Amino acid sequence: MDDLKEFLQGAAKFNDTESLPVKPLLERLAREGQAPEALFLTCADSRVDPLLIMQAQPGDLFILRNIGNLVPKINSKDSSVMATVEYSVGALGVKTIAICGHSDCGAMKAVLSKKDLTEMPHAKEWLAAAEQSTANYENGYDQVQFESDLPEHDKLSKVNVVTQFENLLTYPAVREGIEKNTLRLIGMWFDIGNATVEVYDPTRKTFIPIDQEEVEDHKKHPLTVTASVLGSAVACAAWDGHFDAALTAVTMIGL
Ligand SMILES: [Zn+2]
Repeated sequence: MDDLKEFLQGAAKFNDTESLPVKPLLERLAREGQAPEALFLTCADSRVDPLLIMQAQPGDLFILRNIGNLVPKINSKDSSVMATVEYSVGALGVKTIAICGHSDCGAMKAVLSKKDLTEMPHAKEWLAAAEQSTANYENGYDQVQFESDLPEHDKLSKVNVVTQFENLLTYPAVREGIEKNTLRLIGMWFDIGNATVEVYDPTRKTFIPIDQEEVEDHKKHPLTVTASVLGSAVACAAWDGHFDAALTAVTMIGL
């Protein structure tokens, strides 16, 4: 095995010199505590760097990463996502939950090809949370349009982002936040090779590369996940027996 030098060199460099410019900010955050604007849920892929692609600083984002940027439904075996959502919304009061997928995602490739994961039983169990995304994609999910030359796994990855909001709606903290208009949901996608961040536009039903013009326009042209997408969540929630979730969603979107 290689020695640890290469791995630890970054930390040493940070302590020696690189921490200096960020020290005042970190001192303030240590004194005042954190008040992040958003919960940013993305894949564990090493090529996706939330602080870089959001041009954010320490303290700006409460970050949760897992393989495939998945949100298991409420009361599933894994409580990590549920706990993080509960805490970030309930205790930290984040105003935004962003779910960010990305190109060339190994998780999406594995579920799309129905890869044999017998040797990785926990990965297999975890990726079962992507079953709804795969079903949506294979059944011609109409909430996401794509460029025709996009690879299949990238198309699935975009469907997967939007599908996770259906699962998020099964969380009481999320339903309540949306009901009270204190929480918004945003779908994002990072194109690694093009170094471009895209945002889901529910009106155009597609992911668009975000630029200043789109940001300025967001009031008349919201980029938050809204009625058209949540319509399917109503059916999904009702199907799963979460009738209160369905009812809240119906109220929320004014049906
Ligand atoms: Zn990934």
